[in-house]
Amino acid sequence: MKSINPATQTLIREYPDHNSEDVEEMLERSSRAFRDFSKTSFDQRADMLNQAAAVLREKKEQWARLMTEEMGKPIKEARAEVEKCAWVCEHYAETGAQGLKPKKIETDATNSWVQFQPLGTVLAVMPWNFPFWQVFRFAAPTLMAGNTALLKHAGNVSGCALAIEEIFAQAQVPDGVFQTLLIDHDLAEKVIKDRRVHAVSLTGSTRAGRAVASVAGQALKPTLLELGGSDPFIVLADANLEKAAKEATRARCLNSGQSCIAAKRFIVVDEVHDEFIHLFRKEMRALKIGDPTDESIDIGPQARVDLAEALHEQVKASIAAGAVALMGGEPSGLGPAFYPPTIISRVDPGMSVFDEETFGPVAAVIRAKNTDHAIKLANQTEYGLGASLWTTSDTIQPLVDAIDSGHVAINGIVKSDPRLPFGGIKDSGYGRELGEMGLHAFVNAKTVADF
Ligand code: NDP
Repeated sequence: MKSINPATQTLIREYPDHNSEDVEEMLERSSRAFRDFSKTSFDQRADMLNQAAAVLREKKEQWARLMTEEMGKPIKEARAEVEKCAWVCEHYAETGAQGLKPKKIETDATNSWVQFQPLGTVLAVMPWNFPFWQVFRFAAPTLMAGNTALLKHAGNVSGCALAIEEIFAQAQVPDGVFQTLLIDHDLAEKVIKDRRVHAVSLTGSTRAGRAVASVAGQALKPTLLELGGSDPFIVLADANLEKAAKEATRARCLNSGQSCIAAKRFIVVDEVHDEFIHLFRKEMRALKIGDPTDESIDIGPQARVDLAEALHEQVKASIAAGAVALMGGEPSGLGPAFYPPTIISRVDPGMSVFDEETFGPVAAVIRAKNTDHAIKLANQTEYGLGASLWTTSDTIQPLVDAIDSGHVAINGIVKSDPRLPFGGIKDSGYGRELGEMGLHAFVNAKTVADF
């Protein structure tokens, strides 16, 4: 497995894959570790998570540089990612015991309750875009619930994958409780089917979700899928346009545009369409693209050259179908993985940038006739992760109800928060991470009725 710095295209390091024997040993170690770890107290697990948070903060610079080097994230965003990982560990250390304690329910039995027991070993298949956050978002509640974890990370961020294993080891998490597997898809399939693996969590593309869930489905193992999105950013006639344009830029370009919950389709009602585009363009123009280790940079390279190329194909296809590039739209001369902030207007359903997930700093602007049309366009997608709605109206509930997604942000951008459940509907996946639901993602909710 090769880690290639996307900004410079230099080889950082090659990592030898784990082979079948290595994997067998790790599965056995995980299974053995579960026997003791599942019996540890909530206080003991909370201590480990607090220690993991401390290790993250102590070496924040080291972890942030590693992410930036392997996948090109701007360094200031990489530091914020490490902080957020520490937060999710502390959040579950603080709230885990309460969320997992047995819940009493009145019935005709003398006593009845539901108790939450860990399932066993959970395999996490994770992507490269937030190489630390996606893993900690899964690991903190999963370990707090008493499970053990195996990580199969994306092939281009093996350094991050091994660093996370090291962080948990430094946090006194017992041997075998969290292990990183450096494996290809074939071996991953064998791991999913193995009797010592009890569930799978995947964050990534819809294609990867379908492949992994079908193998897990054959083996009757529960899956949690957090897949792609094509989130609408809906601007209504009464919106605060200046604020909307500023936040639209952040919502689209955070992580150089490579986020499942990035706003991707900007649906603007006719009345304010031109004014919004004018303001949006001004904000997008102010972004600085370049060397991601430079503190002043807003947009780094895309994580891999093939991803930048695929993005450009989507832009070209949409322009050929009648859309217009108002800015960007041509690869920048900075290097093969760089793609500039781009606004495409006159976008309609049927065009690539409307129908597909665009994973990069490309904003598709769609003109809507009115509010009803805007909501109809917002829902005209196979995805359903998040939506951002911009309006100063007080009667938002009917609009919130009408939007098909797992999350609605009003006058703000869609972002994950350890306190709130997170996940999608339709091709964006199923199940919820974070919040109390995240704690219950991989547990046996055991009903007990004592007559
Ligand atoms: P993938 O979804 O293919 O990769 C995500 C993870 O899934 C990686 O660990 C990958 O491993 C693994 N994976 C993929 N297929 C299988 C399989 N059949 N069996 C086991 N593991 C599998 O992302 P890509 O890197 O190919 O990105 C392509 C597009 O996916 C992006 O342009 C973007 O649109 C979308 N994407 C969305 C993400 C999100 O957060 N919603 C995150 C990443 C990508 P490996 O690296 O070894 O292939």
